[in-house]
Amino acid sequence: MRTGSMRVAEISLPAIRHNVTRVRELTGGAVIVVVKADGYGHGARIAAEAALAGGAAMVATADLEEALALRDAGIEAPVLCWLHGVHADFEQAVAADIEIGVSHLQQLEALAAAADRAGRPASMQFKLDTGLSRNGAAPEEWAPLFARAAELERAGLVRVRGVFSHLANAGEENDRAQAARFDEAVELLRSTGIEPEMIHLAASAATFSSPHLHYNTVRVGVVAYGLSPFADKTSAQLGLIPAMTLRSEIVALRGVPAGAGVSYGFNHVCETATTLALVPMGYADGMPRALNGAGAWVTVAGEHRPIVGRIGMDQFIVDVGPLAGRLGLGDPVVLFGDPECGHPPVEIWAGLMRTINYEIVVGVGPRVLRVPSEELEGGGA
Ligand SMILES: *Cc1c(COP(=O)(O)O)cnc(C)c1O
Repeated sequence: MRTGSMRVAEISLPAIRHNVTRVRELTGGAVIVVVKADGYGHGARIAAEAALAGGAAMVATADLEEALALRDAGIEAPVLCWLHGVHADFEQAVAADIEIGVSHLQQLEALAAAADRAGRPASMQFKLDTGLSRNGAAPEEWAPLFARAAELERAGLVRVRGVFSHLANAGEENDRAQAARFDEAVELLRSTGIEPEMIHLAASAATFSSPHLHYNTVRVGVVAYGLSPFADKTSAQLGLIPAMTLRSEIVALRGVPAGAGVSYGFNHVCETATTLALVPMGYADGMPRALNGAGAWVTVAGEHRPIVGRIGMDQFIVDVGPLAGRLGLGDPVVLFGDPECGHPPVEIWAGLMRTINYEIVVGVGPRVLRVPSEELEGGGA
């Protein structure tokens, strides 16, 4: 592992364990934790291990490549993936015992053929579209798809372990309509003689908003990382702890006179003499460049200080003004973390960027070292 990195995303393992335990206690059923897109930017292996330690029954990714990477990283727990390229290598999936989310008949046939070649049955779940109009089998495909799977199950080529669908989060009424279609699908599936062990519809939002949609399993991403899926509820209000603390350090301190321009274009000019701290993180590391002039702040020495001037690819500037005498090179700067520890919540950036917390954490760049931590409070600033 690289050490002394000047760009760190500290990932609190106890926070992820706590969040998964919180979901388990809330639902009383099995929990699948989604670790796609490098664990929502937290590091897929780190996230998967912590989630399993917190009691997750299974971890999931979108892509088969991500699922296989988890196996390579030593994750032996059940892994599900559901978004497949036309030429996805299901033989590797069968060999690595990855569970495949099947969305249509050609996928089912390809999976059965791979199982035949591998000489062992393929584990699968049905991925159904109940109204999102995205990935998943449409209602008119269900009957032939289920009938064929029942045949292949009897032939020992596939083993149907579950059935799932994804909500549009388009309001209670729509949730109810999707759930009704989902119930029909489960009934139809059972009528073919298939008994799915895992039945899951709720992702993070419905897990916290709609207990009647829990079935026997939920499939959560963002809440496992301690972030709220709701614009009007904080992590703390949901009993969650944000797991990522994005941290850098002061690499230069400079006193400047009143009137000094800061960074490209001088779109910030210091009104009074002050001290500027240079922090080596930029838009290559997932800091939105448009934070410029938007009022974003960081924590330095326990205080909130403003980001000033344009954010570069590799670096940005903090006006540390009155703190100058207390600061030294190497002092930590927290860009976002747990607001309960005084750090800026990631939702500030998300709000300024008119996006969601998901997009900010998943956008933390590859130069940022993911460091697992046994501390509940990250950052040391
Ligand atoms: C990403 C994803 C999830 C997780 O969603 P969250 O809102 O992060 O809980 C669940 N199911 C599917 C199909 C997904 O693509």
